[in-house]
Amino acid sequence: MNRYLFTPGPVPRSEKATRAESAPLMSHREPQFYRLLAGIQSKLQALLDTKQPIVLLPSSGTGSLECMAVNLLRPGTKTLSVSCGSFGDRFREIAERTGAAITGVDVPWGEAMTAGILAKALADNPGTEVVLLTHNETSTGVANDLEKVLEPIRAMPNAPLVLVDGVSALGTLHCYPEDWGIDGIGSASQKGLMTPPGLGLVWLSARAWERLDTATTCPSYYWDLKLHKKQLLAKNPQNPYTPPVSLFYVLDDALDDILGTDPDGMASARENWFATRRRFADALCAGFEAMGLDLLVKKSEIRSPGVTAVRLEGADDARKELRAMGVEFAGGQGALKGQIFRTAHYTDMGWPELSLLLGCVWSVTKKGNLASAFEKALAAWKA
Ligand code: PLP
Repeated sequence: MNRYLFTPGPVPRSEKATRAESAPLMSHREPQFYRLLAGIQSKLQALLDTKQPIVLLPSSGTGSLECMAVNLLRPGTKTLSVSCGSFGDRFREIAERTGAAITGVDVPWGEAMTAGILAKALADNPGTEVVLLTHNETSTGVANDLEKVLEPIRAMPNAPLVLVDGVSALGTLHCYPEDWGIDGIGSASQKGLMTPPGLGLVWLSARAWERLDTATTCPSYYWDLKLHKKQLLAKNPQNPYTPPVSLFYVLDDALDDILGTDPDGMASARENWFATRRRFADALCAGFEAMGLDLLVKKSEIRSPGVTAVRLEGADDARKELRAMGVEFAGGQGALKGQIFRTAHYTDMGWPELSLLLGCVWSVTKKGNLASAFEKALAAWKA
């Protein structure tokens, strides 16, 4: 029996990715690797519409968030942490370990951050030096519209640095940090970037890199971003320490899926990719709603294009039944444990996956009319 992985990372690996990952290993100190890394750099820069380098770390997403924290926070740094879910809470905990002075603002789970919430928090906390935000909150399936949320920051003369958890956002939804006023993004390979787990990514703005030039030495040697940047910008771009080389092959390939291979067509391929992810999520939500399922995120405009959460009595039992059918979903975290199931759709899915998801969920919930759910989802998918 085939097994279908719909967890919000890791995502299923395509046959193409399997072939890429099993290619013969190369040394990370040979010209072929330098070329590979340089190519990945320019593709990631096209994805984020930036000229700044993107550091690739041997880590998961948590490692990339910790890397930003240990580089940019010091004991006493006045930090505002806005959280709307379990991963926002985790970013706060990571920051607390640095000794930074943290003020937490909590948005109810299932709702999104807004410019109003941020403006009030900044007004209540004058002298804030760093703000921590989440782009796509995977624990609830909320996509925060950071372009709008950051309006108050863009209007400030000496704006605090904005560090973003982009672990499930990169490759899933638009993220243009330089235009939006973001200073740091931590991400990972195993979600929207459709690569197996093991690669963390850190992007910093020019302003954040300058801050590092005057900051006291990073207390972590392995995570010291200045050491990474020096090697990355060298004539032969490379990692300071041995990287997971085979994951680079897959990431390179996955970026081609998102951006296409025509250097002049990358921006439109990227927009098309994001629009298709959005359309998939809308179609899935339309089908679930037609069955009468209770979507955790009520406002359609803040629903994530990459992950959908459904509130269901006996959610964990339903997941067990789904697992027995060969379909793996994720459960709830923290306060939502046992109350929801989550399904991810970061990868290049279409109608076959939509009908499989709807059919399997209907068969364990028996909610609503399957035929009308299919009709609603199909109409939204074709829209
Ligand atoms: N932040 C977000 C938004 C996530 O979705 C995740 C993982 O699901 C993490 C952080 C933690 O990432 P990792 O498990 O790769 O360390």
